[in-house]
Amino acid sequence: MKLSWRIILLWSLPIIVISFFLWQGFLAPTTNELNTNIANSRMTYGRFLEYLDMGWVKKVDIYDNGHTAIIEAIGPELGNRIQKIRVELPTSAPELINKLKKADIDIDAHPTKNTGALWNLIGNLFFPILLIGGLGFLFRRSNNASGGPGQAMSFGKSKALFQMEAKTGVVFDDVAGIDEAKEEFEEVVTFLKKPEYFTAVGAQIPKGVLLVGPPGTGKTLLAKAIAGEANVPFFSISGSEFVEMFVGVGASRVRDLFKKAKDNAPCIVFIDEIDAVGRQRGTGIGGGNDEREQTLNQLLTEMDGFEGNTGIIVIAATNRADILDSALLRPGRFDRQVSVEVPDFKGRLAILEVHSNNKKLDPNISLSTIARRTPGFSGADLANLLNEAAILAARKRRANITIKEIDDSIDRVVAGMEGTPLIDSKSKRLIAYHEIGHAIVGTLLKNHDPVQKVTLIPRGQARGLTWFTPAEDQSLISRSQILARIMGALGGRAAEEVVFGDAEVTTGASNDLQQVTSMARQMVTRFGMSEIGPLSLENEESNPFLGRGMGSASEYSDEIAIRIDKQIQTIVNECHAQTIQIIKDNRVVIDRLVDILIEKETIDGNEFRQIINEYTPVPEKYLNVL
Ligand code: ADP
Ligand code: MG
Ligand code: ZN
Repeated sequence: MKLSWRIILLWSLPIIVISFFLWQGFLAPTTNELNTNIANSRMTYGRFLEYLDMGWVKKVDIYDNGHTAIIEAIGPELGNRIQKIRVELPTSAPELINKLKKADIDIDAHPTKNTGALWNLIGNLFFPILLIGGLGFLFRRSNNASGGPGQAMSFGKSKALFQMEAKTGVVFDDVAGIDEAKEEFEEVVTFLKKPEYFTAVGAQIPKGVLLVGPPGTGKTLLAKAIAGEANVPFFSISGSEFVEMFVGVGASRVRDLFKKAKDNAPCIVFIDEIDAVGRQRGTGIGGGNDEREQTLNQLLTEMDGFEGNTGIIVIAATNRADILDSALLRPGRFDRQVSVEVPDFKGRLAILEVHSNNKKLDPNISLSTIARRTPGFSGADLANLLNEAAILAARKRRANITIKEIDDSIDRVVAGMEGTPLIDSKSKRLIAYHEIGHAIVGTLLKNHDPVQKVTLIPRGQARGLTWFTPAEDQSLISRSQILARIMGALGGRAAEEVVFGDAEVTTGASNDLQQVTSMARQMVTRFGMSEIGPLSLENEESNPFLGRGMGSASEYSDEIAIRIDKQIQTIVNECHAQTIQIIKDNRVVIDRLVDILIEKETIDGNEFRQIINEYTPVPEKYLNVL
């Protein structure tokens, strides 16, 4: 009620303003009569006096406080017809009236009706009065609401600052593939439902649980599921919403949030993106932000302020626990950390099962094939994938989703929208050689993932694409696998060089080269896979904007830096030489594959391998020998 009033008032202001202008324009009386009497012809005052002397003027109507006269005159100049003529009168013409009287001319003065001025006055005052009244009303309201003096306007309160869901409707069964995290949380549900089990033996119920994991892995979903399972309300706010322009607003929001939560205990308070407020204080670029620190302090105070047994459990989510302020991670605050990872094959399968429940899939589709094709996909990616496929199927008026739509959607999620193929031209031929170069090097190298397909249909930024079926276990990669990937990535450029010559190579390989360099660099500086030896010289790339660490400041001497660069060069150059050799050795089959690719636009992995095998002698697999 309180709120709705304010909303009505706020909404009514612009409406009143608008209607005021309309009203001014169309309804307020103006010097109407003058306008309706407007005579088309005009004459000067001097000429009017002459007319008077001639006795041609019959009637004078004075308007506008004596500034304007409309005269009726008749005379030979006017074609002997009575005409209305407008005359501007000089301000000082006092003798005029006498003159008119003497001449016995019919005079009529039309005093400007003051109504116009009156309306103007009212109009001009109306809006400010309304505004002042409205503001006063707002002031009074918010003072009442905050229940005390000293808070002139509580900005922190005036916005919808957090969401509350009485029932989330999400249950644990909706969350798939993150079983460890779920187990951890099943206990939290018991805390909420049967706190006495724990308090009876003197156990402290945890106040906060921190969910750590990459975006889209189901952190929010999991928090909702806890509330849903325990059947308690779910309060949520995002850390970025705390951080406001005005100092103190964030803190007041925290206060409000916890006040509401206490009134509704037992409940779940979910703080998303807690790193936005909870970043390590006083470090890095973002350090020294007063507002953020105040907000964080308030959050810490609130978390200390309630006893573990009040039934509020705070769940926070972040994708970077390492940058959080250590005060947040102290016991009694977010003392439990649960990490949620990007799902593995089994996890993806389980998530696909959950999300395919409400979709009509072709019975021939095996979810495990999809799961195998999608390493690195998060839960959100998978949900999105199935939804895209459903949309595609609907667009084609299919009765159900077939593997074609699924494939298309995977390609789309990974590489972007499909474009139109190039017409046959030199550059199409060059792109074809480039892609076949990737594919053949990848196929002939023993340690490389197999080719899934090669296509000349552009997608996103790419004008041609070679897809590989990734090996399931992406977490442990051997040195020879990395070298094979480097060579595979160099395959495109190498084919351009061999076929078209050094002068004709294109910018199309820039992305490949970026990957090549980054892989080689990591071999040297992170994985200890070069002659420098098993040293870790750089950390995983960290975001320089996130404070602490401040990027990866080099932890090695200049001398080592030179050796790192040398090693990277050696690796890339040797890989390049080998790749060129593979292309040269297989030029005949490459030419044939290019012709097929240009004709068909896409070659599927099995067909690709078949064609290579047809070639006698069957090329032996290359082992990279670095
Ligand atoms: P996060 O909060 O970690 O960024 P969300 O919980 O918002 O991710 O996930 C977004 C959507 O992705 C969810 O609504 C759900 O549809 C889907 N999703 C993500 N992870 C899972 C999972 N483990 N099981 C089922 N669905 C998931
Ligand atoms: Mg989320
Ligand atoms: Zn390429």
